[in-house]
Amino acid sequence: MRYISTRGTAPVLTFEEAMLTGLARDGGLYVPEEVPTLTKAQIAGMAGKSYEDVAFEVMRPFIGETFSDTQFRELIAKAYAGFGHAARAPLVQLAPNHFLLELFHGPTLAFKDFAMQLIGQMFQAALSRSGDRVTIVGATSGDTGSAAIEAFKGLSNVDVFILFPHGRVSEVQRRQMTTPSESNVHALAVDGDFDDCQAAVKDMFNDFAFREEVKLAGVNSINWGRVLAQVVYYFTSAVSLGAPHREVSFTVPTGNFGDIFAGYIAKKMGLPIADLVVATNRNDILHRTLETGAYTKEGVTPTISPSMDIQVSSNFERALFDAYGRDGAAVAGQMDDLKQGGFQISQGAYQMLKDTFKSGRASEEETQAAIKSYRANTGELLCPHTAVGVHVADAHLGATPMVTLATAHPAKFPDAVKEASGVAAPLPPRMADLYDRPERVTRVANDLAALQAVIRERI
Ligand SMILES: *Cc1c(COP(=O)(O)O)cnc(C)c1O
Repeated sequence: MRYISTRGTAPVLTFEEAMLTGLARDGGLYVPEEVPTLTKAQIAGMAGKSYEDVAFEVMRPFIGETFSDTQFRELIAKAYAGFGHAARAPLVQLAPNHFLLELFHGPTLAFKDFAMQLIGQMFQAALSRSGDRVTIVGATSGDTGSAAIEAFKGLSNVDVFILFPHGRVSEVQRRQMTTPSESNVHALAVDGDFDDCQAAVKDMFNDFAFREEVKLAGVNSINWGRVLAQVVYYFTSAVSLGAPHREVSFTVPTGNFGDIFAGYIAKKMGLPIADLVVATNRNDILHRTLETGAYTKEGVTPTISPSMDIQVSSNFERALFDAYGRDGAAVAGQMDDLKQGGFQISQGAYQMLKDTFKSGRASEEETQAAIKSYRANTGELLCPHTAVGVHVADAHLGATPMVTLATAHPAKFPDAVKEASGVAAPLPPRMADLYDRPERVTRVANDLAALQAVIRERI
């Protein structure tokens, strides 16, 4: 299995190389040269199996020779052993044809743990084989950072630096990043918004001298290994609702387009997915793009669903690459135009995207109303991101079962949840002392040189 860049000129890599590299050297994102397919019988055979067994079957065709079957099974087992639910990703019913996929039973209470815990295991295995040491640098709007820290803390061959927008993450999110005491963990509060943090990380990867000097590695949502790990729960949930004999639809609270792109990969692998619905908050670049064909930046407005407060959506480039018939030069051209503020998607590519993805958005009021009404009508307490999802899903319900991804636990956003529902959202007992642990964080200007200096000094 070989991996190619969405911009067409970076070296072709193996799974291991693509995972350790993150962003491609031409600025693009790695995608598999071909998406392997599973037969109907293989998918039917997943019924009743453990999450770990399905994970092995879904991901095995993508990893090539990177790990033996035995080792890969061990890494998967370790990755999910710390989850607080035996099913890992349990389904809950909300309405006759509407289901919630709970992806918040991992160590940091958000779906990011599914990918990050596995990536941590895979990095450790690959690095201890080669004896290399790497510096992981990531930007976060809240959940990626804590998930990365939780996955990499204490590992001997990795330093992990997480950039987050100062004052724009919830207190639980911040504390999950600033309270781990391991010396290889570095939380950096940047004076800027999430897009500034993401841009700084991109600039570091494009500074090849720095990249070599500190052996930079990325685990942001553009990392192919992360997208791959997220493909698994589309299979487990669809199969438990009757796939491959019955179609299933999904609504995904979306920011950087990683989670929904994993659903698109599941569909390409042969899972019978009817609709893939992109749900955005009022930072709605993706919804506007799917409505109009114009991908244009606007400023970011803070919302009660901060992990979806983005201006540009990095993984969308992977969908564009397919929409443009895998023409890397066309994608590179559009991404150049994006620096000037935006671009118009060509007619054929736009048609492909509209045929593949539906979309909707939720205002702040609609998000709050969804938290309140679902609490009243089903007893479920939704986090604000999940509430954006169910609001949008409600407009797309039909004869096909709809699964909305519950991307975080309500206790991660207790203030917003309490304000909307009047109900407190307590942390699970295993995290109850989070507010008492000491914090450790470095405040840094929104400036590339300043950030690079901090990293050089700490490794
Ligand atoms: C990261 C995140 C999202 C957005 O996921 P993408 O893969 O970036 O689209 C949604 N909800 C929560 C809680 C998140 O942490």
